Amino acid sequence: MSPDSPTTILRSIFGFPRFRGLQEEAVRHVAGGGDALVLMPTGGGKSLCYQVPALCRPGTAIVVSPLIALMDDQVAALRQLGVKAGALHSECDPADARKTLAALAEGRLDLLYVSPERLLGGLIDRLDPAAIALFAIDEAHCVSQWGHDFRPEYRALACLATRFPGVPRIALTATADRRTRADILASLAMPAARAFVASFHRPNLFLAARPKQRPREQLAALLSRHQGASGIVYCGSRARTEQVASRLGADGVQAVVFHAGLARAEKRDALRRFRAGEAVVVVATIAFGMGIDRPDVRFVVHLDMPDSPEAYYQQIGRAGRDGEDAEALLLYGIEDIARARHFLARSQAPESQIPALRARLETMIGLAETGGCRTQALLACFDERLDDPCGHCDNCLAPRPALDATVAAQQLLSAVYRTGQRFGLRHVVAVLRGEASEAVRRHGHDRLALFAIGRERSAEFWHGVGRAMIVEGALVIGEGYGTLALDAGAARPYLRGERAVRIHAAPAPAARLGQGPAGVRSGGDDTLFQRLRAWRKRTADAQNLPPYLIFHDATLQDIAALRPDSLADLAQIRGVGAAKLQRYGTELLAALAAG
Ligand code: ADP
Ligand code: ZN
Repeated sequence: MSPDSPTTILRSIFGFPRFRGLQEEAVRHVAGGGDALVLMPTGGGKSLCYQVPALCRPGTAIVVSPLIALMDDQVAALRQLGVKAGALHSECDPADARKTLAALAEGRLDLLYVSPERLLGGLIDRLDPAAIALFAIDEAHCVSQWGHDFRPEYRALACLATRFPGVPRIALTATADRRTRADILASLAMPAARAFVASFHRPNLFLAARPKQRPREQLAALLSRHQGASGIVYCGSRARTEQVASRLGADGVQAVVFHAGLARAEKRDALRRFRAGEAVVVVATIAFGMGIDRPDVRFVVHLDMPDSPEAYYQQIGRAGRDGEDAEALLLYGIEDIARARHFLARSQAPESQIPALRARLETMIGLAETGGCRTQALLACFDERLDDPCGHCDNCLAPRPALDATVAAQQLLSAVYRTGQRFGLRHVVAVLRGEASEAVRRHGHDRLALFAIGRERSAEFWHGVGRAMIVEGALVIGEGYGTLALDAGAARPYLRGERAVRIHAAPAPAARLGQGPAGVRSGGDDTLFQRLRAWRKRTADAQNLPPYLIFHDATLQDIAALRPDSLADLAQIRGVGAAKLQRYGTELLAALAAG
């Protein structure tokens, strides 16, 4: 094996014992000069697919990326590994940019990250084809106008094909359906590229969904299982992020707000706090995400339902990029369904796209409601079949039997009708359960024949029936106050008991608030692990870097469990490459010996 073989580079520089999945094939293909399209889920390990070939091949690798935060992060991470990396984008300090350009001209850079504007706006004319190792085009879905993140400058990257005919190109993305995939290859003029398409199954993600009943308590229960860890809480509106964050703050949780309404400096500060903190919860709208590659996000909670499986997958994908267990909890309720449907009705999207948007929304609702394996259901949305149930989602761990609710649906629809179609689901359920609340008595609903007809069923059961009728369109939610009305046509077969209704039982009380994986895995010695984390935090702060760039949790856990007592033993631990061994090895051994 030559000293610069991909495996040697992986071990000596990155400190990883082996490639993951399709990485090795993709790396060998590109290192050998071939073009490639790499499709891997977030956290799948795309970066190594171009970083390793960049180091195998002579010359500088040019990495095109649309995200400044991500570029800076990658450069900082590579420098920690002793790799010569730089970035050129609109926010670079001019003196740094000059140094980077000089290093490039003198052939002293292994990797250069650039924005597409910067590359095409002049830099490209300075590149000597003979001195370029490869071009990597990250977030390649930006090239496609079908994609959700179209960047017109990306299309102009096609010129690389003719201007640098001998230089291999590798396009990478985490989101691309078949059509987008074809579009990427055509738009970048890469007809001969080999596609490396990984499974979108993320076995370390624990998926769960619950009806939104007491969201504050449901969130608190999850946070208590993840003490000391960082995570993301997604909300449907800016106002809600502020409200949730201030409540969390009052409960002693370190919460940071992020949404598109923040000023640039506030956003940057929020990002900085998220990256530097050990136990930070970001409460965010969907504006938060692109460019976040903190690997040790342990949970993602949705307090409001996303409007498509694609959005959901992308958001939960931000958890567990380091491959360790992570939890994704979705809380959903009828107000989510109502909001999304009203939004769609008023959508500015072209007429031709509305049916597709509606189908995605309905699929998302189905995903939330399903009593089957959630991982299977989610992968099916991306044309991927998982043969066996995953065994680690909430429904696999605590199966919920299907209950016949045909008669209950009839009763619930009648109750909506008898109460005048002017009340919300909560009120209707109170009537059915025989709860003589003040409002129920004031409207005389305690004198209806239906009053208390369903008292032996739980409120959760009735809410489930109500959601099922809303999903089927038999009940329509009014805008504003969430009042329910019948859709006569859709409701008729249910009112007559002609169409069977089945719902899934509510989760057992023990499972109700989710029993995902424990927060921070305690590998071996927990106090030692905590001491190593404290050492890492000091070391990171001294260099003004996020802690995960020094070592990942998994690496510290292995160190705490194995207690290496020589540099040679320390070098065997995954995540400890040559540069980090040299830089931190002695200090780490001293910290271990002191315990
Ligand atoms: P992506 O860009 O696909 O979202 P990354 O390239 O950021 O994923 O990789 C995700 C995480 O997995 C990173 O923390 C990276 O260090 C780690 N990783 C990638 N490949 C390997 C490997 N072969 N062995 C161990 N860890 C890996
Ligand atoms: Zn499952």
